[in-house]
Amino acid sequence: TSEKWEVDPEDLILGDELGSGNFGLVWKGLWCDKKVAVKTVREDAMTEEEFKEEAQVMMKLSHPKLVQLYGVCMQRSPLYLVFEFLENGCLTDFLRSRRSSFSQEALLGMCLDVSEAMAYLESSNFIHRDLAARNCLVSETLVVKVSDFGMTRFVLDDQYTSSEGTKFSVKWSAPEVVKYKKFSSKSDVWSFGVLMWEVYSEGRMPYECRSNMEVVDSLIAGQRLLQPRLCPETVYQLMQWCWKEVSEGNRPSFALLLHELASLADC
Ligand code: ADP
Repeated sequence: TSEKWEVDPEDLILGDELGSGNFGLVWKGLWCDKKVAVKTVREDAMTEEEFKEEAQVMMKLSHPKLVQLYGVCMQRSPLYLVFEFLENGCLTDFLRSRRSSFSQEALLGMCLDVSEAMAYLESSNFIHRDLAARNCLVSETLVVKVSDFGMTRFVLDDQYTSSEGTKFSVKWSAPEVVKYKKFSSKSDVWSFGVLMWEVYSEGRMPYECRSNMEVVDSLIAGQRLLQPRLCPETVYQLMQWCWKEVSEGNRPSFALLLHELASLADC
């Protein structure tokens, strides 16, 4: 008896390799005539039992600006996670490969797409935990969609999960996450500010030459990422709002950010 979120391996055709991720290789594939991305999960890479339960929650999350999880294939090892396929790949690479070609409208549109997905996650009480341009994908029609929501919870490699680890995304993390691992929709908002900075910097690495430790120190000293050349003052103000200390109680919600970005897009 298979559940409806279980993908029958018979229905899945694997194609070219797309890349390698946190858990293992990612393949292009076909599932019931739909183009899909299949993430394979190495046996030692994920807390499988917990993931199986959570996968059911993640499948119920559905929004036009979220990369849809279609199902999971768990009859055999490695596990397969079957996702909606996005033709234009990860947002960081997309931005880098098309530098100097983006209109202001396009850059703002990318931020707006992500804010829509995040407002939906926020209203679903679901925390992303690793929002960054590298975890967004771009569709054939250039819609940006948010991917990998909640997935870091299942990574076993402590270089990723410990804030001292070499692979921990310190540069996207709110201070309360670096200090106490206190994840919330408000810590996602901080990351969203960094993501907007990445968009307006056309895929540059935030705090380019600094080490993680130097970044933490400069944040404590009150320094923030500088205004990218392509970024209008109005958008930079939103970024800076995302980078307030959460204890001050005045980091905006995604609902509010979406509203603000939408009104900038209307101008
Ligand atoms: P992980 O998040 O587990 O580290 P990634 O999401 O980075 O894995 O996947 C590795 C690569 O596979 C990405 O850089 C991207 O190019 C590609 N990829 C992942 N998911 C999709 C998808 N849904 N559609 C198209 N390409 C994808």
